[in-house]
Amino acid sequence: MSSLQYTPERAAELKQNIEGVLAEVRSAGTEKSRLVAISKIKPSSDIMALYDAGHRHFGENYIQELSDKAKELPKDIQWHFVGNLQSNKVKLATAIPNLFALESLESIKKASLIETSLASISPPHPAPLNVFLQINTSSESNKQGIPPISSSTPLSPDVPEILALALHVVKECPHLRLLGLMTIGSFEASHAEGTRNPDFLRLVETRDTLEGILSSTEGVEKGSWGRKEEGGLELSMGMSADFKEALKEGSDNVRVGTSIFGSRPTKP
Ligand SMILES: *Cc1c(COP(=O)(O)O)cnc(C)c1O
Repeated sequence: MSSLQYTPERAAELKQNIEGVLAEVRSAGTEKSRLVAISKIKPSSDIMALYDAGHRHFGENYIQELSDKAKELPKDIQWHFVGNLQSNKVKLATAIPNLFALESLESIKKASLIETSLASISPPHPAPLNVFLQINTSSESNKQGIPPISSSTPLSPDVPEILALALHVVKECPHLRLLGLMTIGSFEASHAEGTRNPDFLRLVETRDTLEGILSSTEGVEKGSWGRKEEGGLELSMGMSADFKEALKEGSDNVRVGTSIFGSRPTKP
């Protein structure tokens, strides 16, 4: 049996699951809200089943696993990398021609490494690689990402990390496109009932603040960041436990794994 072969039963189950999630995305989101099926630890045959059902955006958080799956799966899948990209794995990521977005950029150093790597690839990728800056909205020390900002954050004497990184990507990295901001948020906030998720609100405020600064910064060309057509930065927030709330708060990109594929074994 090929690694892409799925059973009709599993395909039917996956299709039903993703249709349930897509129905929520359509009703609570906007026309443009994107569902990224997070397939980490799940077999390529699961991805193939959803591909055959018409789905194209998939996400992974281990780069070796993404690289292996990208090689055997159809080349028009749009891959999202949502994990921590170590410096020694940058080349593995940039070698994936259909990597749609790196959702977890958190340092200038990493941006420069990715830029240099992309610049050396032959044939070159047809479009700049979309990046989201990962924001640690819950300020948890075990979470990746840089601090959020608000309209009251001072911009001097120390430039906030997010602004320095955004300007670096926009001005110094022609092979990258700053598409948006991503957050994971705290487990407690995502499971609290009846309150608005403060981590999502912080990401919205950070996005609004950063857009305001970028729009009024000299030397930053209009159209050089954000969505190509409509402009503006995207928000990537919301997972299985909280994607409905995230859509209500304006998420453009929800990352859903368990609700589509079922629970994952805990990694040893
Ligand atoms: C695993 C993962 C998800 C999906 O989580 P579920 O709870 O299974 O929906 C989303 N985003 C990131 C960054 C992840 O690592």
